Amino acid sequence: MTESPKKVATNSKSPTGKIRKMGESIAEVGMADAERDILAELDKALSEHISLMLGWCRHLVLPAGKPETSVHDHTEDHDCDFGAWYALNRHNRLIDQPAVHALAATHEQLHASAKRLLDGYDIDGDVDEAEFEMMSLRAESFFAQLRRLERAFRTARSDVDPLTGTYNRQTMLGDLSNERERSVRTDTPTAIALVDLDHFKLVNDTYGHQSGDLVLQSVAGILQSHVRPFDKVYRYGGEEFLICLPNADMKQCARVLERLRRVIEASPVTLTDGSILPVTASIGAAPMTKTRTIEQIIEKADQALYAAKEGGRNKIRVWRNPDSNKAVKSDNDTPKA
Ligand code: GH3
Ligand code: MG
Ligand code: MG
Repeated sequence: MTESPKKVATNSKSPTGKIRKMGESIAEVGMADAERDILAELDKALSEHISLMLGWCRHLVLPAGKPETSVHDHTEDHDCDFGAWYALNRHNRLIDQPAVHALAATHEQLHASAKRLLDGYDIDGDVDEAEFEMMSLRAESFFAQLRRLERAFRTARSDVDPLTGTYNRQTMLGDLSNERERSVRTDTPTAIALVDLDHFKLVNDTYGHQSGDLVLQSVAGILQSHVRPFDKVYRYGGEEFLICLPNADMKQCARVLERLRRVIEASPVTLTDGSILPVTASIGAAPMTKTRTIEQIIEKADQALYAAKEGGRNKIRVWRNPDSNKAVKSDNDTPKA
């Protein structure tokens, strides 16, 4: 990775409307804006590298094969928006900490791996399987580190729900509208899901509020550890969680959600008195679209969730038919033998 701060990635607009100009480091804006800038930059790095990986996969599997110049340049320069941003800001006191430097190191390894793969590819047209595997692992590790870092910054800013460790509702609407913008701009599908615990009031009524809290923590832990690294989990309400799934069409979304439903079902909670409590959740999902507001999309996911409850609970329903307004059943209603 080049050390020279050639450029700041792009102009950045903070939620307060202040524009950080090309080449202006975060030291030159106020502290609150700086924190928001870091979060925006991390989000941008995530989507930039997801696009890069998707581009790679597309080029490697399509018969036309050879990666486009833009992908080539990206890896040849060892430079990208995130790299340039880090080079410019690495000595800022918000950035100068081991976790950020570790992320930058993983990022550098990812690009080095991509370059090696590309060099080999250029020579004989074949893909080195081991190198490709290495690049994928590094990308996964980069995404996971990036998410952890983002959570650390958000915790410091109180963007995280103290009981469950998921993002809180205050941060959710802004995030979702950024994600919707990204999804429309890059023409990639994104889904929103609502997860609601089944008969949770009964847990509180029977075992007490503290046991209820344990259940919430357990389910939140499952959700966070079983979504993909770039999905985000928010505490939407008392016993409801919202998940944002970028780069997921409704088929992929249903697969992720079905996996979550199964893990929750298979993970009873051990209470402090030693009793074991089965837990299930119902899940509804809807796609982000250009034409609907975030509130309208959440409403569609809520309609699907309602259908999942009506269908007997411990189910997922995916809302995907705008014309007939129907919640479509998912596979878990027709288990295969
Ligand atoms: P359904 O299957 O239809 O979703 O039924 P439910 O009992 O889960 O739904 P209901 O909305 O009737 O109850 C939700 C309960 O969640 C009621 C409320 O007391 C409880 N709750 C909300 N926030 C918390 C919390 O932070 N901790 C605990 N322990 N309980 C909470
Ligand atoms: Mg509820
Ligand atoms: Mg409930």
